[in-house]
Amino acid sequence: MMMNYQTNLNIFEKLYKKFLTILYKNKNIYVYEKDFRNLSLPSSVGYEAINICNARCSFCGYGKVGADPRKKIKPNLEVLHHTLSVYNESGGGSFTLSPILGEITAIPNLIEILEDIRARYKNIKGLSFYTNAILLDRFDLQKLINSGVSDIDLSTCLSGKEDYKRVYGVDKFDQVKNNILNLLEVNKKNNNKVRIKLLLRQDKPFDNFLKSDLYNKIVSYIPKSDVEFLDNQWDDFKGIIKKEDLPRNQEFKKQMDKTKPCYALFRKLEILVDGTIQGCACRVEPDLWTENIKNFSNLKDAWNNKTYNKIRNEWFEGKIPKSCNTCSHYIPYSNLKKGHPKKVSKLIYKKVKNKLLSYMK
Ligand code: SF4
Ligand code: SF4
Repeated sequence: MMMNYQTNLNIFEKLYKKFLTILYKNKNIYVYEKDFRNLSLPSSVGYEAINICNARCSFCGYGKVGADPRKKIKPNLEVLHHTLSVYNESGGGSFTLSPILGEITAIPNLIEILEDIRARYKNIKGLSFYTNAILLDRFDLQKLINSGVSDIDLSTCLSGKEDYKRVYGVDKFDQVKNNILNLLEVNKKNNNKVRIKLLLRQDKPFDNFLKSDLYNKIVSYIPKSDVEFLDNQWDDFKGIIKKEDLPRNQEFKKQMDKTKPCYALFRKLEILVDGTIQGCACRVEPDLWTENIKNFSNLKDAWNNKTYNKIRNEWFEGKIPKSCNTCSHYIPYSNLKKGHPKKVSKLIYKKVKNKLLSYMK
């Protein structure tokens, strides 16, 4: 099956798709199988920004032989702005400034970069990043919250000083805890302008932490649903990470049947530090390196570049990239499909309920 054959939606399919694009506020959604063979634009774009990290997590490939063959390099602003201007021109959407194996707050002028993005690219709607929070105290948090960032995901371990040191590989528990609480406090003073989520990587069971004062303090700032635990869904980074490297009592994610191409090839346009378009935002995989964003002046061509489409097409034909064979981040592309009546009615119900609640306030 080849990519790029004409989409042939009938009038009812077109109307239903139009309705869904309004409902999801995203015109780049997949509704029909044929949408995956005639790609228009990615649903979001991200720039890796930096491949240097200040932690040594036991569960992560960073700093371990075989996980990332590249040299350590700092952000390339030319690549960043070229990517953003191409994205902005094509209509924009949400943009992620998150490293794959690296830490964004290791960039000293991060706030200036965020402010600059907001000032220059009007079509960039959401602006998000992940951080391990170790260096947040080097920033003016009031400025950071008002920099234009819309979402911050904090990845950490908060079950205790010793646990943190074992899992994150550095002795920074108190600093991280204070940084997170300070950030939540400043955000609260700014009417929770930024959506902050806590992604916890820690030992099981979680009960003791869920009873702790720290947890109660955190959920006085953010909803409980924004505190997530990674639970038996770990990746082994091509066998580099062993069971004993995971937080205690945690398991690797079970391998799935990979007949269908991975969703990562269809979801987001991921740009590596040097501009390489990688067909995945989960790991660093030379198998999935395609062409360079600097060689494209429009997003559709970058998203449909020859090498990228070859990887997608080959997978449709049964040839799975070697690095994807063992990857546990895999999800079948068909999971990206929107439009299942049950899910659509649930979403409509939620939206109507929220609207009514906001009127009643
Ligand atoms: S998980 Fe993140 S913070 Fe930890 S070593 Fe890997 S890149 Fe760094
Ligand atoms: S299988 Fe893993 S490495 Fe391959 S595209 Fe999916 S998430 Fe990326």
